[in-house]
Amino acid sequence: MTSRSLAVSGALLEGKTTDLLAIDGLIAEIGPGLDLSRAEEVIDGTDLILAPSLVNGHTHAAMAILRGRGGDLPLDRWLQEVIWPIEKGLSGEDIYWGTRLACIEMARNGVSEFWDMYWHSPDAARAVRDAGLRVVAGPVVLSLPGAADPAKDEAALIEDLDRIGEMGPLVRPAIAPHAIYTVGPDRLQRLADLAAERKLPIHIHLSETEKEVDDCVSEHGLRPAAYIDRLGLLGPETLLAHGVWLDDDELDLVAERGATVVTNPVANQKLAVGRTFPLPRALEAGVSIGLGTDGPASNDSLDPLSDLKVLALAQRNAANDAAVLGSGEAWRIATGQASNLLRPYRPLEPGSPADFILLNGKAPELATGELTSNLVFAASGAAVDTLVVDGRPVSRHREVSGSDEVLERVSVIDSRLVDGSGRD
Ligand SMILES: [Zn+2]
Repeated sequence: MTSRSLAVSGALLEGKTTDLLAIDGLIAEIGPGLDLSRAEEVIDGTDLILAPSLVNGHTHAAMAILRGRGGDLPLDRWLQEVIWPIEKGLSGEDIYWGTRLACIEMARNGVSEFWDMYWHSPDAARAVRDAGLRVVAGPVVLSLPGAADPAKDEAALIEDLDRIGEMGPLVRPAIAPHAIYTVGPDRLQRLADLAAERKLPIHIHLSETEKEVDDCVSEHGLRPAAYIDRLGLLGPETLLAHGVWLDDDELDLVAERGATVVTNPVANQKLAVGRTFPLPRALEAGVSIGLGTDGPASNDSLDPLSDLKVLALAQRNAANDAAVLGSGEAWRIATGQASNLLRPYRPLEPGSPADFILLNGKAPELATGELTSNLVFAASGAAVDTLVVDGRPVSRHREVSGSDEVLERVSVIDSRLVDGSGRD
């Protein structure tokens, strides 16, 4: 089998001019003055800054086609009156094109990998594969009257997991119970067993609202983290989305089990969850942390760099301390480096996957001062020029191939949803 190769020449890395050679999706060499004649393609890195790509630790990508609908309603009415009725009518093809739309946006914003949880997950996974990004795709398990697919049984779930598992090296399946208030304890326990049996990660919303905590305590006599621990769901391969209302004992427990909390500061504020995730306490306890956008209908952008600024601002303001969450730590969180589950390798080193971004060094927001500080507090995804995933350019100079077809398809879906729902 012939190998495939890609190089970057003359980009800036930590202020020094650097070349990079990727072979078969891995970084083979990185440093000045490399012999790049072996590369099939060379990206001219002049005026570009080499940096690790971003990891979006929690989203529902296909909800890009539900964006901008009912966004001024309170959470329960938004779900029950707008989102769930529309979701019932979505086909696998709708999910495919909605996810492709989200992938264009994420690629332009420098996201190489995301954790997704949604209906028709094999179709979403296929879309991400076709887009050339990485995904951990979880077919959502949710049993609630009025929701899209309350009767999804174990056999159908296993079939979905198998289909996702066959989509190649960039796509991995996950067990994704929606939340403790939408899936009962017996089912949660069975899902924990299934995850252990198949060696799959678990992706679940936890402690997003105070009501969830109160209901859990009154129904089960335990707070949410202790409750899922008792059911066998809490371990090093577990990703907890939100964790806003976790208390000190729960953070210690999450750290002890090695689970990751993905904080979603923008979605939390848009949906007014009433508290800021206790990040300083979580870091002190040793909890692994990631950053997520959450679904594009509850954010509404898919731009982790923008959300990173909100994260830092919210944390500093909540702590009444401008020294909380330094830029370096914030950047590690956004690039998945504060969690072995999100990024189990050091980026930009020989032997690591060739997933990286090239930032526009001519962007005014990056022109002066410290790069990391500027990335956290000044830049948005608009500063990302090029995204490479698995040694392949996905976005070049902010162009993503196939975008025209995707936009045409989602425009047709959008018109149908507007007509069908009668809400717009
Ligand atoms: Zn979510």
